[in-house]
Amino acid sequence: MTEFSALEAANTFEELNLAPELLSAVLALGYTVPTPIQKEAIPLVLAGRDLMAQAQTGTGKTAAFALPLLHQIKPHANASTSPARHPVRALVLTPTRELAIQVHESVVAYAKNLPLRSTVVYGGVNMKEQEADLRAGVEVVVATPGRLLDHAGSKTTLLNRVQFLVIDEADRMLDMGFLPDLKRILDLLPAKRQTLLFSATFNDEITRLAKSFLKDPIKVEVARKNSATELVEQVAHKVAEDDKMDALLRIVQMREISQALVFTRTKLSADKLGRRLQRRGVEVAVIHGDKAQVDRILVLEGFKQGKIKLLVATDIAARGLDIVDLPCVFNFELPYSPEDYVHRIGRTGRAGMSGLAVSLVAPAEEKLLAGVERFIDKRLEISPLPTLPAPTHVAAPVKQAETAAVEQPDSAPVAYRRRAQEPVCALFLPPVPPAKPEAPATE
Ligand code: AMP
Repeated sequence: MTEFSALEAANTFEELNLAPELLSAVLALGYTVPTPIQKEAIPLVLAGRDLMAQAQTGTGKTAAFALPLLHQIKPHANASTSPARHPVRALVLTPTRELAIQVHESVVAYAKNLPLRSTVVYGGVNMKEQEADLRAGVEVVVATPGRLLDHAGSKTTLLNRVQFLVIDEADRMLDMGFLPDLKRILDLLPAKRQTLLFSATFNDEITRLAKSFLKDPIKVEVARKNSATELVEQVAHKVAEDDKMDALLRIVQMREISQALVFTRTKLSADKLGRRLQRRGVEVAVIHGDKAQVDRILVLEGFKQGKIKLLVATDIAARGLDIVDLPCVFNFELPYSPEDYVHRIGRTGRAGMSGLAVSLVAPAEEKLLAGVERFIDKRLEISPLPTLPAPTHVAAPVKQAETAAVEQPDSAPVAYRRRAQEPVCALFLPPVPPAKPEAPATE
């Protein structure tokens, strides 16, 4: 494996020698300078090399692979209506539907000045529409592995002319058990192809995978594993489990946080927190593995449009969410895996902007916190919770949906309590079921 040194890396998109149609598309998107991964990866991909790239979501990795691929398949672009003239030439595999949709959106944006066809296929939705696109012929397919195999199995699409394969978020693919599917897909592809593997982390397993799938790959590393942790202000508060939601709302108010992603460990606690926040009048939505695809898309749109203030998510569901300008991430529950902590906080502080990651640590989670600190090689200072300003006037009592003692202490100042009068965004939450005991669950 060769290590790449970016001594001669380009500093502008013009210097990357991309086709003018691609250059004008990225400039129109407002990209002015290539990100580090783009500077390093684009020339190598254009030179035909296989790549093993360590880059997290938010580093601009999608353009790092999509632009040079599109550049290389541009000579095949044609306006023919014959499916035979549009074989699949580039295949991008992603672990989640959300990521597939977002990668495809980027491909469409980058390729908007070229007569190249692309589509996205993922599970959980009807196959018909996807079949029609595939049968008509497409040069670029972005797919989750299972659904792609379904289409390939029914011969809706042929993969024997694929020249470029991208495996995106390879670490997550393995975590989610996609290795057998990946192997089956690789068996359908020509041996002569260019393969690019992107992963946020590289452990022995990924390196083994890379060695078996890639040919003399060049390793590109844009940042150390814990670089996200350096860009983001990290705060930890010790809070009793029952007081976490109050603490969350208080911090949101005191730090004037416009929007935040709030992480829980399980689907069950995500739903529970979503319902509690909804009762408090917060514009909240919940996203996790059990949500229908259509709900996830609606939620993401709602969040992007600012209709949702707090998005409660599990680790798996949050992967691949392309949310730019996310000012804050809450670890409402610390993750079991310290790597997930890094993934979580990497959702804020993107593109050099400052970000804030707040961890609410219950006594039972102190061991998890210690694990995180070891992993990121940094101690997280425990800060006192921000105090609330004294009330300036007296308001009528606020109608409370939950037990006053836990949810809305009488001592809470007016400014805080008034939140309960704001409109409730029930759009994305199921009706509140009758109270029942919580069972432990995992995603
Ligand atoms: P990604 O890591 O591919 O998910 O990209 C993260 C975000 O950065 C996306 O919203 C991209 O549109 C944006 N982006 C990618 N490259 C650049 C660039 N060179 N300049 C500004 N924004 C970019």
